[in-house]
Amino acid sequence: MKIIKNGTLVTSSKVFKSDILIENEVIKAIGVNFDEKGCEVIDASGCLVFPAAVDVHTHFDLDVGNGVRSVDDFTQGSISAACGGVCTIVDHMAFGPVGCDLTHQPKVYHEKTDGKTYIDYSFHGTIQHVNDDILNQMQDLVDMGITSFKLYTTYGFKLSESEILSVLKRARELGVTITVHCEDDDMVSYAKEELIKQNKILPKYHPESRPDLCEEASVQNLISLSKLVQGSKLYVVHLSTKGGLEALKKERLTQNKNIHVETCSQYLVFDDSYYKNDNALKYTMSPPLRKKTDIEALWEGIRDGFVDVIATDHCPFNLNKEKQRGKDNFLKCPGGAPGVEERFRVVYTEGVAKGRIGLEKFVEVMCENPARIFGVKNKGSLTPGYDADIIIYNPNEKDILKHSDLHGSVDYSLYEGFEIQGKIKKVFLRGEMIVEDNQFLKHTPSGKFLHRMIEKN
Ligand SMILES: [Zn+2]
Repeated sequence: MKIIKNGTLVTSSKVFKSDILIENEVIKAIGVNFDEKGCEVIDASGCLVFPAAVDVHTHFDLDVGNGVRSVDDFTQGSISAACGGVCTIVDHMAFGPVGCDLTHQPKVYHEKTDGKTYIDYSFHGTIQHVNDDILNQMQDLVDMGITSFKLYTTYGFKLSESEILSVLKRARELGVTITVHCEDDDMVSYAKEELIKQNKILPKYHPESRPDLCEEASVQNLISLSKLVQGSKLYVVHLSTKGGLEALKKERLTQNKNIHVETCSQYLVFDDSYYKNDNALKYTMSPPLRKKTDIEALWEGIRDGFVDVIATDHCPFNLNKEKQRGKDNFLKCPGGAPGVEERFRVVYTEGVAKGRIGLEKFVEVMCENPARIFGVKNKGSLTPGYDADIIIYNPNEKDILKHSDLHGSVDYSLYEGFEIQGKIKKVFLRGEMIVEDNQFLKHTPSGKFLHRMIEKN
């Protein structure tokens, strides 16, 4: 048994001084004056004690074709995540071969992950085409513990509106959540063509190829589709625009409480002026970075409860290798950026330390909501009976974020040189200390596949 003593605990509803008693991987009790006999006592004086973070949008070992894959595999990626206070990920799986069954990618991903991952994990199913077999196979994935699916409105495997409607109808029957990448593909194609005609293909033009209106239009369309199939559970991934948020807000206020919203740390920190410097390739991701007004709208959305989750869309490619494919033409640059190790401290600094959100809201969007929305049982909260996934954080230390201190495989950080308020002192996965003072301590990858449940409303 272990006792974490003298810390200040943070939940989504309160901040209070208390101790935590841990037994058999689980939080047994929260209180004071526990009998310390036979217990290992960990002193958390002066520190905040958080539930470990949950990142429900990562792309480890993502095969994007043409011999390119994201550079963190599940082993190194999970070490990096753990050092950033993340004990649970739900990874968005890559597209499989054209026409493959829905069950194809989970098999591939179990091979990539089982016995090789240091934190607990699950996957979102990927729907890349639709027919009766695929709709039936959604049940097979639910039986495997995969209770959410991703679909795209852009890229090669985008679904048509009628296909999306079939998926929403089936999702409603099964009670699963459909996550959607919202960008209007025709509008993106038009914007790209216009840029190509003007020979504007250097990396700095990337944001102009995916204007904010593409996201807003696609969100608006999804809302319309969801009205035809009422009652299906939706989740918009990596929302980046004020316009998209306004549309979702209106919908949530009027009737549909079943649309959840995610943004990612980079959209809360950087605006599109970052494309003007020499490192535009670092920020080549879809959707692209937006304006300051979008950033402020997203923070406001978090405060008001319209943005439920802050994730990362962690999808790392080396700046000096894979990203260089786009140095003369952004269309050839693999889209994506790292962030799984940086998110917790960056959002703490930008959100809590700068007074944009309170500690309770921080825990809600970083830990509790992502676990709850995706049916990840017993994670994301300091609650008796839950897994003892815990971060001890000293809010009084200051740090400068340096890529050289991180543990992932990629060769840069978006947040290089950021002044960080606070330091992660210790991280526990199911009661076992796996990180201390930025050292990863574990030797065997004992991360578990999390069989998720259908979350009832
Ligand atoms: Zn993604």
